[in-house]
Amino acid sequence: MKYLFLSIALSILSVFQVNAQEKRIPAKGLAVFSNDWQFKPYEFTRHALGDDDILIETMYASICHSDLHHSHQDWGNEIYPMVPGHEIVGKVTRVGKNVTKFKVGDYAGVGCMVNSCGECDYCKAGLEQYCKKVVMTYHAHDPFHNNEITQGGYSNNIVVKDRFAVKVPQNADMKKVAPLLCAGITTYSPLMQSDVKKGDNVAIAGFGGLGHMAVQYAVKLGAKVTVFDITEDKRADALRMGAVKYVNVNNKEELKGMDDSFDFVLSTIPAMYDPSMYLRMTKYNGNFAIVGLPAFNNQPTLKVMDFVFLAGRNVYGSQIGGMKETQEMLDYSVAHNIYPEVEIIKADGDAVTEAYKNVLAGKVKFRYVIDMSTLK
Ligand code: NDP
Ligand code: ZN
Repeated sequence: MKYLFLSIALSILSVFQVNAQEKRIPAKGLAVFSNDWQFKPYEFTRHALGDDDILIETMYASICHSDLHHSHQDWGNEIYPMVPGHEIVGKVTRVGKNVTKFKVGDYAGVGCMVNSCGECDYCKAGLEQYCKKVVMTYHAHDPFHNNEITQGGYSNNIVVKDRFAVKVPQNADMKKVAPLLCAGITTYSPLMQSDVKKGDNVAIAGFGGLGHMAVQYAVKLGAKVTVFDITEDKRADALRMGAVKYVNVNNKEELKGMDDSFDFVLSTIPAMYDPSMYLRMTKYNGNFAIVGLPAFNNQPTLKVMDFVFLAGRNVYGSQIGGMKETQEMLDYSVAHNIYPEVEIIKADGDAVTEAYKNVLAGKVKFRYVIDMSTLK
């Protein structure tokens, strides 16, 4: 008799376990399995929908240079398989029972974060990106879900806490929204932090995905913008976007006479460069903000002497932006028709591999966006 009870109890338990298993959400995407940038189809599961979570069917995910750094081990040891992607936009298909911010059918955007503690000073100040427990969208251990590894937006869906998704207006140009979730906020935020305004002289160094967003925001704010990059191919684009000047830093003649010129300098450069040069160009009381993140074994340096001999210039780093500011940036961008310039590619492993090589070679204008509806 007691064996009968035991076997009934065990079968009930196993039914519960199967149900718990079934609650995980199946997903498929494109992953790299080493640092070779060879993208291949990959099937996995995401954690079950929590009461405060939403499930988003991905429409578009774009390629940020950070995805190149991450998957190439530029910033340290990486975890594979890795599904990158932290510029994501899609349609809400399910909502947890506590969610009021979204309903099924709404458009939602997800950037670099999917969760945080919600209680620390950073979270309370709307600076979730600096929370010690922040969960990055991919390649992160998620302490709120048994430390499982997160996977990003080059996939058919994503589960996210509702407060880490922004509302995307129905009239937004959906093909172009995804890059705003990282390139947009990462440049909008320091422009706001430094209170850039009409008539300011602004320098944007690195005219790629981030840089071309920074130029558009700064021009909209009424600043006089000078763009610095290493190619001739983008000179006409910078002027078309409203810059007053374009400097090819490989041409030493063009760099002459620029010291003490700028109220605000933003570096989005992802590779080796000379930050002292940009500090010299910053005016007394001006701001030099750094967002570009070159590889850990190829780090540009600012010397202590630079700070002393170029005293009075403020240098600071900035990471993306908090969720409140991200929503503000998105609404601002859509309202003022400020979007990235994009090239749409298929959600195909070879196409993404080729796109990565082109980003590194400076061949994209200005952001690749993967059409996730084409994922097989
Ligand atoms: P892109 O590759 O799209 O753009 C980088 C641009 O910098 C390219 O136009 C490139 O030139 C140019 N460039 C390269 N070397 C130099 C140089 N020495 N001087 C001037 N310009 C140069 O990258 P993203 O805009 O996507 O990202 C830029 C960086 O920002 C990356 O390191 C990324 O990881 C980081 N990032 C940081 C974030 C943060 O929160 N702080 C968030 C998101 C990204 P060309 O194309 O002509 O070769
Ligand atoms: Zn990014």
